[in-house]
Amino acid sequence: MDGRPAQPSRKRTGDPGTGTPRGSTFWTVTQTCWRLFLLKYILALFPVKTPDYLHVGTLYHALLEGWSVEGLYTFPPEYHPHIELAKKLYDERLAGPPIPSSTAKEKQRTLPFGMTAKADREELSFGKRKAIRDFKSTIFFSEHDEKQWNVNLGILAEAMGHGAEKAIVDVICKAGGDNFGRVQQFEVEVGEREREAVEQLVNDARLEIHARVDEACSELNKYEVCGQDGNKPKDDHQKALLYKRLRAIFPKRMPSCVGKYGPCHYYERCWGDGPEKHLFKQNQRKGYAWVNDEGDVVLRDKVSRLSDAYVGVV
Ligand code: SF4
Repeated sequence: MDGRPAQPSRKRTGDPGTGTPRGSTFWTVTQTCWRLFLLKYILALFPVKTPDYLHVGTLYHALLEGWSVEGLYTFPPEYHPHIELAKKLYDERLAGPPIPSSTAKEKQRTLPFGMTAKADREELSFGKRKAIRDFKSTIFFSEHDEKQWNVNLGILAEAMGHGAEKAIVDVICKAGGDNFGRVQQFEVEVGEREREAVEQLVNDARLEIHARVDEACSELNKYEVCGQDGNKPKDDHQKALLYKRLRAIFPKRMPSCVGKYGPCHYYERCWGDGPEKHLFKQNQRKGYAWVNDEGDVVLRDKVSRLSDAYVGVV
């Protein structure tokens, strides 16, 4: 125990309803899988159990932010078994490449096109050039990591939020074995081409979200499922057709179901038959507060309506 005071509460990965509603995760999901978008941001469903590797990463970040080990024990109990490993990882990182002092930490920025981004740190790099640094942990390194970070939406947006033309992705290996604690740093240049791509992705995604939400609502209107009088589809055939249409508006995307770190967190929900299929909890703040500034109220109402309608459909 190092005795430093616990810091104020911060985002903990996997806790529903925390984090920014318009950050890179939100927008990236629109590229990954529309069924995932439906489950996560419309039905607001979250797996009851967060994967262990996310616990370690969250605790490691907290230590880098200045949390004490005692402070980590104020995290929910499921984090506690991972504190020792996170502390070892943190010690390895401190023994690794030097970490320059920061000029800002964990400051959330909103980009002009409505995306939010929060870099772990802002630093002044060589030639007093502003840079951001983001700490990541991984299970393994790949020869394609550099290319992958060069086009990572979150990293690019964080640099944009700080007006920086360089981002440093500071990655540590958390898997056991010889590579444990090995650090690799990737330098990402953020120029006009990258800034344009980020803005375009977010604007296109926003249009697509609106289009799909509107389409689903118009299907409901057509079938009068959720009218104020609570009308139901006239017969089973009609109901089956409606459900088919609703599923098609937010389709599954099979290539995204299993990735570098294993299955998608919603794999059991989408493909499982066992009890795990039902181990999801709904965020109390149904419908989220996730929409862009202009469409906030209208879309929130629609999302809430869809949330009710989709229960039992997927
Ligand atoms: S398991 Fe596959 S289909 Fe289901 S949400 Fe995840 S990526 Fe989409």
